[in-house]
Amino acid sequence: MTKKGGELVSVLCFGELLIDFVAQEMGVTVGDAPGFIKAAGGAPANVAAAVARLGGRAAFMGQLGDDPFGHYLAGLLAAERVDTRGITYSSEARTALAFVSNTMEGERSFMFYRHPSADMLMQPADVDTTLIDACQAFHYGSITFINEPAASALRLALDHALAADKFISYDPNLRLPLWQSADAAKAGMLSGLDYANLLKISEEELRFLTGGDDVAPLWRERMQLICVTYGAAGAAVHLRDGACIQAAGYTVSAVDTTGAGDAFVAAMLMGILANRDGWRGQLPQTLDFANAVGALTCRQKGAIPSLPTREAALAFQREVNSQ
Ligand code: ADP
Repeated sequence: MTKKGGELVSVLCFGELLIDFVAQEMGVTVGDAPGFIKAAGGAPANVAAAVARLGGRAAFMGQLGDDPFGHYLAGLLAAERVDTRGITYSSEARTALAFVSNTMEGERSFMFYRHPSADMLMQPADVDTTLIDACQAFHYGSITFINEPAASALRLALDHALAADKFISYDPNLRLPLWQSADAAKAGMLSGLDYANLLKISEEELRFLTGGDDVAPLWRERMQLICVTYGAAGAAVHLRDGACIQAAGYTVSAVDTTGAGDAFVAAMLMGILANRDGWRGQLPQTLDFANAVGALTCRQKGAIPSLPTREAALAFQREVNSQ
């Protein structure tokens, strides 16, 4: 464990940070929507904010545009006590934007402004490896694998994290419209598996990558645990020896499930890092806590505003378990 600036950095998240413009009205297309609400988006940035909310030291690495949206997003993460020294600014491309509308059934449709966006232009030379040295865990997603030179920047960061024996965590979040084709998405998402000690995957992504509900095809040499999330139904953790620990979800009246998976993986990482040698024995408790954190993230609109503190999640668990 390395201390930097007197503070322990527990999780460094690498990837995209963007503005989501979410249509105010339900059931309209992005083109027809009369107005949009600005929100921070980007799964790796959500994980960093979730770690910080849970009391951990979090850092974020990625590239933003040198524009008002980029500076707004960096300020927002800093206000969440996320270390933003790993952020670089591009003068060549703008901060990525996504326009999002929700159908009456709660399905989301996206339109992206990434032609290219600043995150896609991050160079290997933009990666500050001293920040990787200072973390305990390195977390990444699949979006950065889509375009060069950002894909090479991520691979450089991952190679450094591997060489430095960091705990590496991967969420291959599925965003089909960003890839050239479904086959390219599958190949790109699978290419990230080789680095990971922990894989967090949703039921839908598992089906997309394997064609079924068995995690067996996803094991790679370094992988120690695979967490499969099932939305409101909870989650399961699979271990290399075939053991599987399951935990039912917590019942909440869900307003917006954005960021639930990011909050879930942040809580799993906190549990593992708190007990690097004995985390296996604590898995049932860690998984139950991660389900509580995920559920609480569904109770308000937006990902970052709804992330719970550790105290709030523990109080919620006590309240539910005393009923
Ligand atoms: P992702 O956000 O990556 O698609 P999920 O939707 O499976 O992942 O959610 C991750 C976790 O968040 C779940 O395992 C569960 O603990 C919690 N969660 C998600 N949706 C709900 C919900 N509607 N009610 C309660 N908990 C939820």
